[in-house]
Amino acid sequence: MRLQTFLAHAGVASRRSSEDIIGSGKVSVNGHIVRERSFPVTEGKDKVTLDGKAVSLIPKAYYILNKPKGVTSTVKDAHAARTVMEFLPKGSGRLYPVGRLDRDTTGLILLTNDGDLAYRLTHPRFEVKKAYRATVKGILREEETRRLEKGVELEDGISAPAKVRVVSRTKDETVCDIEIHEGKKRQVRRMFDSVGHRVIELERVSFAGIKLGSLKKGELRRLTDEELKLLRKR
Ligand code: URA
Repeated sequence: MRLQTFLAHAGVASRRSSEDIIGSGKVSVNGHIVRERSFPVTEGKDKVTLDGKAVSLIPKAYYILNKPKGVTSTVKDAHAARTVMEFLPKGSGRLYPVGRLDRDTTGLILLTNDGDLAYRLTHPRFEVKKAYRATVKGILREEETRRLEKGVELEDGISAPAKVRVVSRTKDETVCDIEIHEGKKRQVRRMFDSVGHRVIELERVSFAGIKLGSLKKGELRRLTDEELKLLRKR
């Protein structure tokens, strides 16, 4: 990483001001003053100081939360009574939800301060898989399942191919698993609406290969090293 970027990521100053600070000769790497903004430094290996004081990157943090109903998945919302931020441990710093879930959708939401990873997990180009368990009104028929899988017409375009599996049926409800890789607003609800079945309950059970597992509603946990490796491979 370039020295200028390192200082900016460490929260010392903006990228632009970091350049001036480096130019002023206040920054040393491994005991030697460096005035070159693109000087390469490696996190955890090189010792960077500013005015003789050590500078380190803010440690990255990764959590998953099982979002309960009635909670908004944004950092700030003047109209929201509750947001996912209330579930974060005190002192965890600035963490952000990756992507969004509707207020009434429950399930897995990832929270992190790793902006690069968040970008790779949310940009449509990377087609990150999201799986949901949906309870829908009425009996979902084979032909409707096929239509959902092929792609249905939504007001903002045809949905990309999805995987749908019926889990159980009663006389007036169907429970099914659906996997998509897009992130259009209220996408799953609108997909089922388009084949005539209103979603009654929706839970995200996995995101980018990370599984909700037995995490209870309102519970939060750190990602394991294996899960992090999986995400970083993307
Ligand atoms: N699709 C929806 O309709 N709602 C969500 O919260 C997530 C996916």
